[in-house]
Amino acid sequence: MRAVIYDGYREPLRVTELAEPVPPDDGVVLRVEAAGLCRSDWHSWNGHDDDIPGFPHVPGHEFAGTVSAVGPDVTRWRVGDRVTTPFVCACGRCLVCESGNHQVCPHQWQPGFDGWGGFAEYVALPAADTNLVRLPHDMDMTTAAGLGCRVATAYRAIAQVGRAAPGEEVVVHGCGGVGLAAVMIARALGARVTAVDPSAHARELA
Ligand SMILES: [Zn+2]
Ligand SMILES: [Zn+2]
Repeated sequence: MRAVIYDGYREPLRVTELAEPVPPDDGVVLRVEAAGLCRSDWHSWNGHDDDIPGFPHVPGHEFAGTVSAVGPDVTRWRVGDRVTTPFVCACGRCLVCESGNHQVCPHQWQPGFDGWGGFAEYVALPAADTNLVRLPHDMDMTTAAGLGCRVATAYRAIAQVGRAAPGEEVVVHGCGGVGLAAVMIARALGARVTAVDPSAHARELA
Protein backbone atom coordinates (compact mmCIF):
# COMPACT_ATOMS: atom_id res chain seq x y z
CA MET A 1 0.00 0.00 0.00
CA ARG A 2 1.01 3.61 -0.39
CA ALA A 3 1.66 5.46 2.86
CA VAL A 4 3.19 8.67 4.18
CA ILE A 5 6.13 7.95 6.47
CA TYR A 6 8.91 9.74 8.27
CA ASP A 7 12.14 8.19 9.47
CA GLY A 8 12.75 10.26 12.61
CA TYR A 9 11.56 13.35 14.46
CA ARG A 10 11.51 16.42 12.16
CA GLU A 11 12.63 14.26 9.21
CA PRO A 12 10.89 14.96 5.88
CA LEU A 13 7.65 13.14 5.10
CA ARG A 14 7.65 10.95 2.00
CA VAL A 15 5.28 8.62 0.19
CA THR A 16 6.41 5.01 -0.03
CA GLU A 17 5.14 1.44 -0.42
CA LEU A 18 4.51 -0.64 2.72
CA ALA A 19 3.02 -4.07 3.30
CA GLU A 20 -0.74 -3.97 3.89
CA PRO A 21 -1.65 -4.44 7.58
CA VAL A 22 -3.56 -7.47 8.84
CA PRO A 23 -6.32 -7.05 11.44
CA PRO A 24 -5.66 -7.98 15.08
CA ASP A 25 -7.96 -10.76 16.35
CA ASP A 26 -10.32 -8.18 17.91
CA GLY A 27 -9.81 -5.52 15.25
CA VAL A 28 -10.27 -4.52 11.64
CA VAL A 29 -8.39 -3.02 8.74
CA LEU A 30 -9.92 0.11 7.21
CA ARG A 31 -9.46 1.30 3.65
CA VAL A 32 -8.87 4.99 4.41
CA GLU A 33 -11.00 7.30 2.26
CA ALA A 34 -10.40 10.64 4.01
CA ALA A 35 -7.88 11.83 6.60
CA GLY A 36 -7.50 15.03 8.60
CA LEU A 37 -4.35 16.89 9.58
CA CYS A 38 -4.21 18.07 13.19
CA ARG A 39 -1.90 20.16 15.36
CA SER A 40 -1.21 16.97 17.32
CA ASP A 41 0.38 15.45 14.20
CA TRP A 42 2.82 18.38 14.19
CA HIS A 43 3.61 17.89 17.91
CA SER A 44 4.20 14.21 17.31
CA TRP A 45 6.46 14.84 14.29
CA ASN A 46 8.47 17.27 16.44
CA GLY A 47 8.95 14.66 19.17
CA HIS A 48 7.03 16.67 21.78
CA ASP A 49 5.42 13.41 22.94
CA ASP A 50 7.43 10.25 23.36
CA ASP A 51 4.68 7.87 22.29
CA ILE A 52 5.96 6.93 18.82
CA PRO A 53 7.30 3.39 19.30
CA GLY A 54 9.79 3.43 16.42
CA PHE A 55 10.60 4.52 12.89
CA PRO A 56 9.63 4.59 10.11
CA HIS A 57 6.33 5.96 11.36
CA VAL A 58 2.99 6.49 9.60
CA PRO A 59 1.19 9.49 11.18
CA GLY A 60 -2.52 10.31 11.08
CA HIS A 61 -5.18 9.87 13.77
CA GLU A 62 -8.20 11.48 12.06
CA PHE A 63 -9.74 9.40 9.29
CA ALA A 64 -12.80 7.61 7.99
CA GLY A 65 -13.11 4.69 5.64
CA THR A 66 -14.55 1.31 4.78
CA VAL A 67 -13.84 -1.93 6.63
CA SER A 68 -11.70 -4.12 4.35
CA ALA A 69 -10.73 -6.99 6.70
CA VAL A 70 -12.12 -8.26 10.01
CA GLY A 71 -10.40 -10.18 12.83
CA PRO A 72 -11.93 -13.48 14.02
CA ASP A 73 -13.15 -12.11 17.39
CA VAL A 74 -15.07 -9.14 15.94
CA THR A 75 -18.87 -9.49 16.12
CA ARG A 76 -20.32 -6.06 15.18
CA TRP A 77 -18.57 -5.26 11.88
CA ARG A 78 -18.18 -6.70 8.43
CA VAL A 79 -16.34 -5.87 5.23
CA GLY A 80 -17.88 -2.86 3.51
CA ASP A 81 -19.11 -1.04 6.65
CA ARG A 82 -18.48 2.74 6.52
CA VAL A 83 -16.95 3.85 9.82
CA THR A 84 -14.73 6.20 11.76
CA THR A 85 -13.08 5.87 15.18
CA PRO A 86 -12.19 8.15 18.08
CA PHE A 87 -8.45 8.83 18.06
CA VAL A 88 -8.28 7.19 21.50
CA CYS A 89 -8.94 3.53 20.76
CA ALA A 90 -9.96 2.05 24.11
CA CYS A 91 -9.45 -1.57 25.18
CA GLY A 92 -13.15 -2.10 25.95
CA ARG A 93 -12.34 -4.59 28.71
CA CYS A 94 -11.09 -2.63 31.77
CA LEU A 95 -12.98 -0.97 34.64
CA VAL A 96 -12.42 2.50 33.16
CA CYS A 97 -14.04 1.40 29.89
CA GLU A 98 -16.79 -0.32 31.88
CA SER A 99 -17.56 3.06 33.51
CA GLY A 100 -18.01 4.68 30.09
CA ASN A 101 -14.79 6.72 30.15
CA HIS A 102 -13.11 5.14 27.15
CA GLN A 103 -11.24 8.38 26.41
CA VAL A 104 -9.00 7.79 29.45
CA CYS A 105 -8.66 4.00 29.14
CA PRO A 106 -5.23 3.15 30.64
CA HIS A 107 -4.76 0.52 27.91
CA GLN A 108 -5.65 2.88 25.05
CA TRP A 109 -3.96 2.77 21.64
CA GLN A 110 -3.83 5.83 19.41
CA PRO A 111 -3.41 5.39 15.64
CA GLY A 112 -0.67 7.61 14.24
CA PHE A 113 0.94 7.92 17.69
CA ASP A 114 1.21 4.51 19.37
CA GLY A 115 1.35 2.79 15.99
CA TRP A 116 0.86 3.35 12.29
CA GLY A 117 -2.00 5.69 11.48
CA GLY A 118 -4.28 6.87 8.74
CA PHE A 119 -1.98 8.63 6.27
CA ALA A 120 -1.99 5.41 4.29
CA GLU A 121 -4.31 3.42 2.06
CA TYR A 122 -5.03 1.01 4.93
CA VAL A 123 -4.87 1.23 8.74
CA ALA A 124 -5.30 -1.57 11.31
CA LEU A 125 -7.38 -0.80 14.41
CA PRO A 126 -7.77 -2.78 17.67
CA ALA A 127 -10.93 -3.54 19.68
CA ALA A 128 -13.25 -2.79 16.78
CA ASP A 129 -16.44 -3.73 18.64
CA THR A 130 -15.61 -1.03 21.22
CA ASN A 131 -14.20 1.72 19.03
CA LEU A 132 -15.74 1.84 15.57
CA VAL A 133 -18.62 4.22 14.89
CA ARG A 134 -20.96 3.61 11.95
CA LEU A 135 -21.42 6.55 9.58
CA PRO A 136 -24.84 7.73 8.40
CA HIS A 137 -25.35 6.92 4.70
CA ASP A 138 -25.57 10.58 3.74
CA MET A 139 -22.37 11.66 5.53
CA ASP A 140 -19.37 12.07 3.24
CA MET A 141 -16.00 10.67 4.32
CA THR A 142 -14.31 14.08 4.48
CA THR A 143 -16.81 15.29 7.07
CA ALA A 144 -16.57 12.01 8.97
CA ALA A 145 -12.77 12.18 9.18
CA GLY A 146 -13.02 15.15 11.58
CA LEU A 147 -15.42 13.53 14.02
CA GLY A 148 -13.04 11.32 16.01
CA CYS A 149 -10.68 14.06 17.22
CA ARG A 150 -11.77 17.71 17.07
CA VAL A 151 -15.54 17.17 17.14
CA ALA A 152 -15.46 14.47 19.83
CA THR A 153 -13.17 16.64 21.98
CA ALA A 154 -15.48 19.64 21.68
CA TYR A 155 -18.62 17.53 22.20
CA ARG A 156 -17.25 16.15 25.45
CA ALA A 157 -16.53 19.67 26.73
CA ILE A 158 -19.67 21.47 25.56
CA ALA A 159 -22.38 18.81 25.71
CA GLN A 160 -21.30 16.23 28.27
CA VAL A 161 -19.23 18.19 30.82
CA GLY A 162 -20.51 21.76 30.28
CA ARG A 163 -24.09 20.64 29.48
CA ALA A 164 -24.76 23.77 27.44
CA ALA A 165 -28.48 24.49 27.27
CA PRO A 166 -30.77 26.79 25.26
CA GLY A 167 -30.34 30.44 26.22
CA GLU A 168 -27.00 29.97 27.97
CA GLU A 169 -23.90 31.93 27.00
CA VAL A 170 -20.87 30.01 25.70
CA VAL A 171 -17.56 31.78 24.99
CA VAL A 172 -15.09 29.85 22.82
CA HIS A 173 -11.50 31.06 23.09
CA GLY A 174 -9.53 29.93 20.04
CA CYS A 175 -11.26 28.93 16.81
CA GLY A 176 -9.13 26.22 15.27
CA GLY A 177 -10.46 22.72 14.68
CA VAL A 178 -11.67 22.08 18.23
CA GLY A 179 -12.94 25.64 18.74
CA LEU A 180 -14.98 25.71 15.52
CA ALA A 181 -16.49 22.35 16.44
CA ALA A 182 -17.34 23.81 19.87
CA VAL A 183 -19.11 26.75 18.18
CA MET A 184 -21.19 24.37 16.04
CA ILE A 185 -22.11 22.09 18.93
CA ALA A 186 -23.02 24.95 21.28
CA ARG A 187 -25.20 26.51 18.56
CA ALA A 188 -26.88 23.16 17.92
CA LEU A 189 -27.68 22.93 21.64
CA GLY A 190 -29.34 26.35 21.52
CA ALA A 191 -26.68 28.35 23.37
CA ARG A 192 -25.64 31.90 22.46
CA VAL A 193 -22.03 31.69 21.29
CA THR A 194 -19.24 34.28 21.36
CA ALA A 195 -16.14 33.19 19.42
CA VAL A 196 -12.77 34.78 20.29
CA ASP A 197 -9.69 34.49 18.05
CA PRO A 198 -6.92 36.90 16.94
CA SER A 199 -7.27 35.68 13.33
CA ALA A 200 -9.92 37.45 11.23
CA HIS A 201 -10.19 34.34 9.04
CA ALA A 202 -10.94 32.14 12.07
CA ARG A 203 -13.54 34.64 13.33
CA GLU A 204 -15.11 34.67 9.87
CA LEU A 205 -15.41 30.87 9.88
CA ALA A 206 -16.90 30.94 13.39
ZN1 LIG B 1 -6.46 15.50 15.98
ZN1 LIG C 1 -10.04 0.11 28.76
